[in-house]
Amino acid sequence: MSRIAQNYCSVCGEKTVCCVPAGDNRERVVCEHCGTVHYSNPNNVCGAILTWQGKILLCKRAIEPRYGLWTLPAGFMENGETLAEAAARESMEEANARARELKLFGVFSLPHISQVYVMFKGELATPEVSPGIESLETALVEPEDIPWDDLAFPVVRQSLKLYLQDPASDRVHNATAIRHEDGRIEWLSN
Ligand SMILES: [Zn+2]
Repeated sequence: MSRIAQNYCSVCGEKTVCCVPAGDNRERVVCEHCGTVHYSNPNNVCGAILTWQGKILLCKRAIEPRYGLWTLPAGFMENGETLAEAAARESMEEANARARELKLFGVFSLPHISQVYVMFKGELATPEVSPGIESLETALVEPEDIPWDDLAFPVVRQSLKLYLQDPASDRVHNATAIRHEDGRIEWLSN
């Protein structure tokens, strides 16, 4: 399991321990003082491939990790949101971008970092985009000008690659990242 550091119980403030709770089958962070089991589960990240006349919206990251590299608008889902609402909110926060209609594009499982990316695609309502607080720069990029060597994350590269195979397709992708021992990421798709 990945051990997310949680040394103190967020309910009662006492020190926590790692153990297998009764009736469970894997180690959890447990507070023996108040009995709370602090589950750690995968995070959902929602993002979007937004286009204007065939150009793709990219954002240059103003935050770590991968400061200064290009990404698609994407971020952690907030409580109470739908997937599409999260993708639309991230597009607005990172690029002041308004999507006209978001369609599900693909689900990307990243078990090595316990994340699931849900990517949408859609058209921009207007080409007026500008950097939000988490971006240094925004750009509408022709497919042939995508900075493949300066993309922030493998999932961004894979999303763009799948999208550009057939931009008009309504196919929904299901992709899984396999991280090899040398750090290389391989994608399985179906
Ligand atoms: Zn506690």
